[in-house]
Amino acid sequence: MDIDDLAARILAGERRALARAITLVESRRDDHRAQTLALFEALKGHDREALRIGLSGTPGVGKSTFIETFGLMLTAQGLKVAVLAVDPSSARSGGSILGDKTRMDHLSRDPNAFIRPSPSQTHLGGVARRTREAIDLCEAAGFDVVLIETVGVGQSETVVAEMSDLFLLLLAPAGGDELQGVKRGIMEMADIILVNKADGDLKATATRTCADYAGALRLLRKRPQDPQGFPKAMTVSAYENVGLTNAWAEMQTLTQWRRDHGHFAARRAAQARFWFEAELKQTLLARLEREPMKGLVQSLGRAVEQGVMTPGQAADDVFAQLEGRAPPTS
Ligand code: GDP
Repeated sequence: MDIDDLAARILAGERRALARAITLVESRRDDHRAQTLALFEALKGHDREALRIGLSGTPGVGKSTFIETFGLMLTAQGLKVAVLAVDPSSARSGGSILGDKTRMDHLSRDPNAFIRPSPSQTHLGGVARRTREAIDLCEAAGFDVVLIETVGVGQSETVVAEMSDLFLLLLAPAGGDELQGVKRGIMEMADIILVNKADGDLKATATRTCADYAGALRLLRKRPQDPQGFPKAMTVSAYENVGLTNAWAEMQTLTQWRRDHGHFAARRAAQARFWFEAELKQTLLARLEREPMKGLVQSLGRAVEQGVMTPGQAADDVFAQLEGRAPPTS
C-alpha cells in the first residue's frame, strides 16, 4: 500500500480513501499497525479541526432519526459531516445495534456525509482507539463536524465524552420517576440534554420532562467550562425537524465561548493526555496476555496460590522480566 498516496487522497477529501484508512486503523495485524503509524506521520501538519460531537441515548430514543435530520441540516448549510459509532454491544457479541448501513438512509447517500458503522472488536479499548484515530482521519479529510454516537450502556459514554468537544444526551419523554433512571455521572457529562419526540401526543410530556431535567441540571455543581445557562435541556423533534436549528445554535454558542476562554484547547489537551495513558495501560496489559509473559504470569499465579511467593514478589518478577532486569525466579 502506498501510504503517501493514501495520505494525499485523504487530504483531498476522498471518501473512499478515508474508508480505506479507517479499515487500516481497525486492523489488528502488526504490519497494518505500522502502516497506520506511517499514515499519521504522513498526515501530520494539517491544521484542520472538526467539531467533535458525542451523542448518547438508549436504543429507541431516536438517535439515528436525530443524526439523519441533524446531519442533513448541516450538509444543507455546506458543512461536511462524518458519523462514527462506539457500540459496546458489538464489542460483546459481534452483533451491532448502531451505525448499520440501513439507518440514516438519506444522510448516507449525501455526498457531504460519511457514515462508518461500528467495528466488532473484543475490547472497548480497541474500539476506543479505532474511533479516536477515525476522528483524526475525518479531520484530515476536511470534515467540519464529526458525530460520535453511542448507546447508554456501560463505559461507552465515558469513552465517547473523552473524545468529544461537546456531549449531547438524547432522552425520550417520560414520567417523573423515570428521571431517576439517568445516572448522575451521565448527567454530569452532558453539555446539552435533548428531549426528543416533542411532537404530537408526546409534546406535553416532552415539555414536562425537559423542565424536570433543566431543574436537575441546575442542581449540579457549576463547571468552569460552562458559560451562564449551560448545561441546558431543550426539546426537539427529530422526526418533524423542530428545535434542531436552535440546538445547533446553542452548540455553536457554547463552542465559541469555550474557544474564547481557552477551555476548548484545554479539553483537547487533557483528552490527548488521558488517551496516552489509556494506551500505555492497554499496551502493557496486552503484552501480559501474550506469550511469553502469559505463561510466566500463570505460573507465578500458581506460586502465589500455593503460598510459595507473595503477590508483591510475583508482580515484581513480572516487571523484572518486562524490563529485562533479571530472569524470573520461577
Ligand atoms: P435509536 O435506536 O436511538 O437510533 O432510535 P431510532 O432513530 O431508530 O428511533 C426509534 C423510534 O422512535 C422510531 O420508530 C422512530 O420513528 C421514532 N422517533 C425518532 N425520533 C422521533 C421523534 O422526533 N418523534 C417521534 N414521535 N418519534 C420519533
